Amino acid sequence: MAETFTFQAEIQQLLDILVHSLYTEREIFLREVVSNASDALNRVQFELLTNRDIQDSDAELAIEIKADEEAGTLTISDSGIGMTHDDLVNNLGIIARSGAKAFIEAMKERNAGAATDVIGQFGVGFYSAFMVADKVRVVSRSYKPDEPVFAWESDGGATYSIEPAERETRGTDITLYLKEDAKEFLSDWKLKDIIRRHSDYIAFPIYVGEDEEATNKQTAIWRQDPKEVTDEQYTDFYKMLTLDFEEPLHRIHMRADVPLQFYALLFIPGSGEPSVLSPRKQPGLKLYARKVLIQEYSKDLLPEYLQFVQGVVDSEDLPLNVNRESVQATKVMANLKKTVTGKVLSELKRLAQKDKETYLKIFERFARYIKQGVVVSPMDRTDIEPLLFFTSNRSADENDLISLDDYVGRMAANQEDIYYILGEDFYNVARSPHLDSFRQRGIEVLYFTDPVDPVMLMGLSDYKGHHLRNVDEADIDLSSVGEAQPDETPSRENLAEDIFESLRSRFADVLGARVRDVRSSKSLTGSPARLVSDEHSASRNMFRLNRLLDKEHELPVKILEINPRHPLMHNLSGLLATNADNPLVNAVVEQVFETALLQDGIHPDPSSMAARLTLLMEAATGSPASDLNFEAAPPVPAPETDEA
Ligand code: ADP
Repeated sequence: MAETFTFQAEIQQLLDILVHSLYTEREIFLREVVSNASDALNRVQFELLTNRDIQDSDAELAIEIKADEEAGTLTISDSGIGMTHDDLVNNLGIIARSGAKAFIEAMKERNAGAATDVIGQFGVGFYSAFMVADKVRVVSRSYKPDEPVFAWESDGGATYSIEPAERETRGTDITLYLKEDAKEFLSDWKLKDIIRRHSDYIAFPIYVGEDEEATNKQTAIWRQDPKEVTDEQYTDFYKMLTLDFEEPLHRIHMRADVPLQFYALLFIPGSGEPSVLSPRKQPGLKLYARKVLIQEYSKDLLPEYLQFVQGVVDSEDLPLNVNRESVQATKVMANLKKTVTGKVLSELKRLAQKDKETYLKIFERFARYIKQGVVVSPMDRTDIEPLLFFTSNRSADENDLISLDDYVGRMAANQEDIYYILGEDFYNVARSPHLDSFRQRGIEVLYFTDPVDPVMLMGLSDYKGHHLRNVDEADIDLSSVGEAQPDETPSRENLAEDIFESLRSRFADVLGARVRDVRSSKSLTGSPARLVSDEHSASRNMFRLNRLLDKEHELPVKILEINPRHPLMHNLSGLLATNADNPLVNAVVEQVFETALLQDGIHPDPSSMAARLTLLMEAATGSPASDLNFEAAPPVPAPETDEA
């Protein structure tokens, strides 16, 4: 007696698209079904390692493909893990694949006909069978002994049925009743061609028709001699593993004999982040023990900051009857991790030094991972340091990067420290007032403009004995560093002391709790003001960190340095002396402060300045200041609590 079930709504949508698609590359259904069969074989192979009580434990682990010309059917059989009644319902009635979900989402946005070309890239799994079949029947016997056999059947409509069936041995048959226009898939020649192109590396033999010889090579490519593998084969393997459309940026094929014997084939992906379409649903490497897949996503082979690396590790030393907790296994794993990590780091370093172009492509995509390494794996810090690259005030543009070694190698005379500036982006920091004095003395400053740079700084306080110092530190004394160059920005004399003091105290009154202090600046040349930090502002990085993490963050309270030589300060003190109540004075003070916030990339709401800027322009173009309502231009509020 057959029971009838309704598909989950998302599957119905998916089927609707697949059934009606005139998809040109629909041959990928075979890749998908074979890959499911291979997964099922992997899983039973793993069970066989530890579990004696398995249905047909001696059956050959293989995939068979048989076409029946007369019936117009194609059957893909495997001796894999099989499915019970409940497995059939849970696996073939409910969607699990993130790729399929993403596909449906993408479909909703477009018209289905136009988008069918991308099905092959999404990897929609089992359901892709409905591109070529008007009916699919799945008969399966579970690896659990004595489970009854059931058949699942559907025509790709809203429902499927399940009924008792016959199958002698463990495994699954997927029978496709081919559509009229899909009869080409009955040809053994055609089937073999597809398998060689899409499934050659499947680790189990695939037998087509009556052939006694497997169609696929089944080569574990990572066990081959690198000299015998072509670039194309490597790339094919990579693409099959990840479904990435891009070529990998780099590959590492290694074989080690002592102290551990293992093979590894690793790739640095071409795409920065794995897309939702990738069949690799989690980070991690595939871990094999003597060619048997024992973990699909092993995160224990590389540290977290290298989890962007994809690939396979195949060990000869891991005990096969894996009791993962066993000391032996843990020791082998720890050693594997050490060796694999060391190899990846040394390869990256070699690239950074010998093939900077390739390295920078890697860095551009994965800098965020690599930079985290100095914080999360401090013991690897000296290996990671050569992998860090930055722009600086000597970069021609944002793609002109240098290493810390480059920096140290060209430090100015008497320079002890490494200087950096934190900010939003290359062009923003390039205009920062903090750079005035460095530029003037020919001193290089690194630009830390990546949102993770403040995180990185938590683990990078010095490099080769040189302290890293933020250019916004109030007590940096450059008077003996580098060489003063003639100043191109014409500035005036310092304001007289008493005149400066009344200007300074006005700034302090107006800004109140928003600044820790207002001081005269020795270092500014072309800029009127800047915000600096002292030892009380140690938490200023926390502001950027919290903002990065989207946490509550209060503006850091800093010291405002004003430039007593700048024409603006001269003009302002003139206004103040003539009429202390002139509303322009306070408005300019506010604007000087907010401009400094903006230049540090920490203004909480830059567009709020527009109202005041408009009023200031009105004043500059002739409106009497007394007519202007500066009350209507709200200032940045003071933090509620004092910085701890
Ligand atoms: P995915 O393979 O990504 O999980 P599919 O839609 O292709 O998604 O398959 C759904 C599920 O059906 C699989 O996860 C698996 O549990 C089950 N399945 C499919 N084919 C087989 C098979 N040949 N043997 C055992 N289980 C299978």
